[in-house]
Amino acid sequence: MAFVTRFAPSPTGPLHLGHAYSALLAHDMARAEGGKFLLRIEDIDRSRCRPEWECQIYDDLQWLGLRWDAVPLRQSDRRDTYQKALDELWALGLIYPCICSRRDIETAQAAPQEGASLLFGLDGMPYPRTCRSRMAYERRFPEQYPRPTNTTLRIELDRVADSVFEHRTNSVGNDWQSYACYHETGIGPQLTRGLIEFSREELGVFVGDFVIAGRDTNTSYHLSVVLDDAAQGVTHVVRGADLTEYTKIHALLQRLLGLPTPIYHHHRLIRDDQGKRLAKRDDARALSKYRTEGATPADIRRMVGL
Ligand code: GLU
Repeated sequence: MAFVTRFAPSPTGPLHLGHAYSALLAHDMARAEGGKFLLRIEDIDRSRCRPEWECQIYDDLQWLGLRWDAVPLRQSDRRDTYQKALDELWALGLIYPCICSRRDIETAQAAPQEGASLLFGLDGMPYPRTCRSRMAYERRFPEQYPRPTNTTLRIELDRVADSVFEHRTNSVGNDWQSYACYHETGIGPQLTRGLIEFSREELGVFVGDFVIAGRDTNTSYHLSVVLDDAAQGVTHVVRGADLTEYTKIHALLQRLLGLPTPIYHHHRLIRDDQGKRLAKRDDARALSKYRTEGATPADIRRMVGL
């Protein structure tokens, strides 16, 4: 089976030990399978990305001994593709503009509503759907009205559900409206391996009407990542376990946009001495700092347990 994987950092700060682990693991897996290791620069948020961080990414990865098998893909070069996909979703009547501020959402969530979920979802509580009826008329005739741009766009999950969820029995025999599944091969404390199936109800409770395009970026991490994985022919996604739950959104979008679903391999996170996941602001763990202190790539491999 073909094995194409990628490392997809955002140039918003220095790469740290956690990035090194992710890149080395993906690279080693590709080499062991005689496959390909690709690089993608996730720079959709221009306000946070800097060219100097991008240069530092190339530099750090090369120093680690990593080589990638194609020209890196830069998300900032892919805007047309993202816009086309949003047009497609608009034409299907599946997205709506949202003008709620973070504060509006918090206020709506704080007010008890009949039937409202009290569970916390992926990004806090699922969006209370305040704007769902916005542009309802235009959305009935999407071919006559241009898709709104420079505004937040949300997926109307119930409509997606109607069009892509299948009514079938899952592998353990429960009858449910199951949308889909993906394969997980990762190893980790709270990670389930094998076939991951999820129901339409579960997605509604934990995800809700998620943002598919931000006001400033006119795309989102979720949309870009599925389009780019497909464009790069990625067959195996190797990434941190913090992104595991997002995979349900990704599998949903892949289905909706007619894209293949890769195999997912989520890996353990590298943590600091207090057990906290490393973040970009943890300059103390920056690879460049270890380099200037005289560490070798072999030392880095040892530090991350490879
Ligand atoms: N750009 C994301 C990050 O730096 C990785 C996204 C992914 O691997 O799907 O965390």
